[in-house]
Amino acid sequence: MRALLTGGGGFIGSHFAEYLLAETGYDVHIVDDFSTGVPGNVAGLREDDRVDVDELDVRDEAAMREAVASADEVYHFAAAVGVEKVVNEPLLSLKTNVEGTQNVLDPAAEDGTPVFVASSSEVYGKSLDVPFDEDDDRVLGPTTVPRWGYANAKALDEFLGLAHHQENGLPVVVGRFFNIVGPRQVGDYGMVIPTFVEQALRGDPITVYGDGTQTRSFTHVQDACEVVFDLMQTDAATGDVFNVGSSEPVTINELADRVKAAAGSDSPVEHVPFDEVYGDDFEEPPRRYPATEKLESALGYAPDTDLETILADVVEEQKTKLEV
Ligand code: UDP
Repeated sequence: MRALLTGGGGFIGSHFAEYLLAETGYDVHIVDDFSTGVPGNVAGLREDDRVDVDELDVRDEAAMREAVASADEVYHFAAAVGVEKVVNEPLLSLKTNVEGTQNVLDPAAEDGTPVFVASSSEVYGKSLDVPFDEDDDRVLGPTTVPRWGYANAKALDEFLGLAHHQENGLPVVVGRFFNIVGPRQVGDYGMVIPTFVEQALRGDPITVYGDGTQTRSFTHVQDACEVVFDLMQTDAATGDVFNVGSSEPVTINELADRVKAAAGSDSPVEHVPFDEVYGDDFEEPPRRYPATEKLESALGYAPDTDLETILADVVEEQKTKLEV
């Protein structure tokens, strides 16, 4: 079996490549434009005979057609991600996320090649109806707020995948990721845990955006990899949408305290208004955590690595990286 991993140089994609190599006999074809993906993530993997790495952009239709043609399964992780990137480069984010998915799904549908589509809990928007069920209504703000463009692009990816399943019989599984975190994630595009851990280890102020009462639940990347692979091997999951997340919500204020404890840090906590970070046309999902019953009934389990373990893993990695 040969798996194509789009965005295989990114945080989740590179962990997934390692998962396939460790747990299966698959060959792995990584494609990435290394815009947010990091060459270092796959440097070691390049040495492996079972791995090919190609630098290409998912918006390149011809190149993607060729890559999909040589695959038995496709895992589509490539996307413009991170709230900062989405807000500052909305056009790039929309085009990468919609055209890229089309360029994967169209040729896959011609060959009947199974596709995993990586979506996001962002599609639930600012709904307050937690925990979020897969078939819950989505609550989004106006088109003048760039953040919702990302939510809509990801939703369009889901629609495209499900439409290909309905009309062309394409085996598709959609996974909605809930704040996937772990070693190797970078804080450059706004992600909170690598940002807080670095601040804590350096003794810098921990920057909590807004009043810090917003909630998230964090999912260890290893758990996410296992779920993604297992969903693709589960017939009953085909043509359906699943939350990929753990249901342990924390406020961002509490997260700041827990990061400090995990890092043994006495950094002060500083609250920064959202508009100072993201400008005036910004909205924030105030609540977010998944219902996991659907995933549990498909697979018999859901991600369950607790926040303490997640933070310990990230602290350990960053201590080495920052040499503190
Ligand atoms: N956040 C924060 N300080 C930071 C980065 C993020 O308080 O330096 C908050 C952010 O406003 C959000 C949460 O942490 O409420 C998670 O942010 P992230 O960008 O990691 O993911 P999101 O869930 O917003 O996509």
